[in-house]
Amino acid sequence: MANPAYRGRLAPTPTGRLHLGHALTFRTAYERCRERSGILIYRNEDLDPDRCRPEFVKAALEDLRWLGIEFDEGPLNQSERIPSYRNAWSILRERGYLYPCRCSRRDLREAAQAPHDGGGEPIYPGTCRPGAGDGSLDWPPAPGEGEVCWRFRVTDGEEVGFLDGRLGRQAFRAGRDFGDFVVWRRDGIPAYELAVVVDDAAMSVTEVVRGADLLLSTARQCLLYRALGLGEPAFFHTALVGGADGRRLAKRDQAASIGSLRLSGLGPDEVLAMARKNVIMVR
Ligand code: GLU
Repeated sequence: MANPAYRGRLAPTPTGRLHLGHALTFRTAYERCRERSGILIYRNEDLDPDRCRPEFVKAALEDLRWLGIEFDEGPLNQSERIPSYRNAWSILRERGYLYPCRCSRRDLREAAQAPHDGGGEPIYPGTCRPGAGDGSLDWPPAPGEGEVCWRFRVTDGEEVGFLDGRLGRQAFRAGRDFGDFVVWRRDGIPAYELAVVVDDAAMSVTEVVRGADLLLSTARQCLLYRALGLGEPAFFHTALVGGADGRRLAKRDQAASIGSLRLSGLGPDEVLAMARKNVIMVR
């Protein structure tokens, strides 16, 4: 019988074929949920219309089915949930956590010696932070209107920690490991960090299983949970899978896609064994 006390989720982004890293993460999410007789939700993270494709939505569902990964609720589409993200934006805005920012990516790249976070993004230098001088905007446009993105203002020096089910206690420092981050993009699309927190809370997810490449994102998300007054789920970050060059796989690594391995004649257990054999250490 299903145990509603455990709710997990599978949350692929349909911008390419799933690879060995996804196989490991999603299989882990599935197993952890089944071991606890929980409910598994399928959430299609299709917010970016320029990059998401219906054929990848279909392929992800097929690949997961082939890997023996079943879910209980969904698929739900993030693209149909914009009003919920907008509502969270309003709450954060009202509570004074957000400010509009007109810096372009290029401005940020060019900011003199901007330090970078663990994910390679420049740490926002604070140009448009309210009170920062000429950069701050008095009469900002609504999200999705005008040439601004919306950033969450972090408290520089604050330690943001959480307990990971595999890696133990994790701690990051705001202002050093990551800076003021985007919650609503300049092109009008809610950012991953915001959408995922709103959804995991709305869908009563009790444990988030995701790749260890997202550890820093989890720290940012903890700040959003706290600012929105929402309870945090438990976190379990799976090991990353490397390619032939030993580097972490990305969607462009077609050779490691579940689809091509399947076509080459491998079975699901062999694909999962291959993923487990190629895990690489991070942190
Ligand atoms: N959609 C993200 C991805 O495909 C995962 C998000 C998450 O698990 O929070 O990488």
